[in-house]
Amino acid sequence: MRIGDAAAELETAAHVLRHWEDEGVVVPGRTASGHREYSAEHLSRCRIVLSCQGVGMSLAEIRAILHRGEAGRASVIAARLVAIRAQRISLDSAEQFLLHVRECRHDFMTRCPECSEYAG
Ligand SMILES: [Zn+2]
Repeated sequence: MRIGDAAAELETAAHVLRHWEDEGVVVPGRTASGHREYSAEHLSRCRIVLSCQGVGMSLAEIRAILHRGEAGRASVIAARLVAIRAQRISLDSAEQFLLHVRECRHDFMTRCPECSEYAG
C-alpha cells in the first residue's frame, strides 16, 4: 500500500514514516513509478517501532534491534534490558507508594515513616 494508506492504518503521519525511512528503521519498497510501497511485513515492522517508542526507545536503538546485522546490536539490547528492569523497580516502588498514600492517615507525609521511605 501507499504511504498515506500505511500512515492511516498505523494512525501516524506520513512524515513520520518518511523519517523512519531516512533513518533506515523501516525502508519500504518502491513501485516502478517510484512511489513508496508498504507490504504487510513493513506494517508489522512499523507496529514494532511504535511499540518500542512507546516504552521510550530511540530510533537508533530500534534500528539496532530490528536489524540482525547492525553493529552493537547485542550491547543495545543488553543496555535496554538493564534500563527496563530498573524502570520496573521504580514503577513497583511508585505503585507501593500510591497504594499506601491512598490509605495514609498522616496529615503530613513527612511525618509518616512509610511515606518518607519513598523519598529515599
Ligand atoms: Zn504515609
